[in-house]
Amino acid sequence: MTQDDIESVVRKVLEEMAGGSAGRVPEETASGKIVTGKTLPGKSRVAMLTAPERFDIREYPIPAVGDGDILVRVEGCGVCGTDAHEFKKDPFGLIPVALGHEGTGEIAAMGRNVSRDSAGTPLRVGDKVVSCMIFKDDPDITMFDLNRQNVGGADVYGLLPDDGVHLNGWFADYILIREGSTVFNVNGLSLDERILIEPCAVLIHAVERAKSTGILRFNSRVVVQGAGPIGLICAAVLRTMGVERITAVDGEPGRLAFAKRMGADGAVNFKEHKGIEALAAAVEGTFGGKQADFAFQCTGSPAGHSNVYKFIRKGGGLCELGFFINGGDAVINPHFDICAKELTVVGSWVYTLRDYATTFDFLRRAKAIGLPLTELITHRFPLERIDDALRTNLSMEGLKVAVVN
Ligand SMILES: [Zn+2]
Repeated sequence: MTQDDIESVVRKVLEEMAGGSAGRVPEETASGKIVTGKTLPGKSRVAMLTAPERFDIREYPIPAVGDGDILVRVEGCGVCGTDAHEFKKDPFGLIPVALGHEGTGEIAAMGRNVSRDSAGTPLRVGDKVVSCMIFKDDPDITMFDLNRQNVGGADVYGLLPDDGVHLNGWFADYILIREGSTVFNVNGLSLDERILIEPCAVLIHAVERAKSTGILRFNSRVVVQGAGPIGLICAAVLRTMGVERITAVDGEPGRLAFAKRMGADGAVNFKEHKGIEALAAAVEGTFGGKQADFAFQCTGSPAGHSNVYKFIRKGGGLCELGFFINGGDAVINPHFDICAKELTVVGSWVYTLRDYATTFDFLRRAKAIGLPLTELITHRFPLERIDDALRTNLSMEGLKVAVVN
């Protein structure tokens, strides 16, 4: 059979199914492609960012599913700060772009060469999956470079330049996961948990970076500065790994209260303390008058970076992970803040493939010890209200915003 024959058979099967065979079980076609028993529509809506602050909901034909491809029916996708920045000003120069990289859904059709996910788990039509586009060959390479190279590079769906397929982001009805992408079967996790996988992987990576200093221990005193989604998940990751003396620092009482439910046992509102000495004293007060052994800086504020050193003891450690975009310069005193303290400082950037797999276990552990992780999702919008979703993220009301189909 030639490739053209195969394509025509698949098209015929898809047409037959669209003609009223909804509800059938998945079946294998003559070509070996496996398609869903549910009716596949001919088109998919895609929220295309066509100019700053302008989404157009466009319809594109669902393309042929190649032998190594997976067509996923999108169930939901979180809105990330990166999406909000791209929405506002296109700093990555990607417009027109189908955004949405914190997505999940179920397999609607897959090519005959697809049988297992990136961890070796079998894949079937109907399975719930997530995908992140990281170099597949080396699980320890961080997704570090949005290099405008399409599938095959260290890129991520939802931040790819537009191409002839168009189904490149999760703010859509369907996404086409191309051959060579990382994909994971996450059947055991709820939709809300699956939407949180991507941001949680950022914290799994940050804590791995922190552990590389050799300073972070079970009984460490740890400051988590910033109680937005990243800081809150940071507290939860630390708690699930057995760290119990965690103090959250933020300016919003509601977020600090939530940080305590997410595993922090101390909370300091920086707005209640005038000057860095008073603030540092308040943080020490939560540790019985001692400075922190380790701190995670989870705000995008240069002042936050300047302040965090004052919370850390001599010989302590710092993980800076708040600056996913350029937030400007921060002033520190290298003598007092780093040299005289012999501080160990690590930066953390996105995650590796290995961290992504670890995240699924973290989510199960967090649930088992009763951390209210899924309460992070405070707002849900349908695809046609994607503008409202992005504006809600930008307004900083609530915590995590999701687009849910
Ligand atoms: Zn993100």
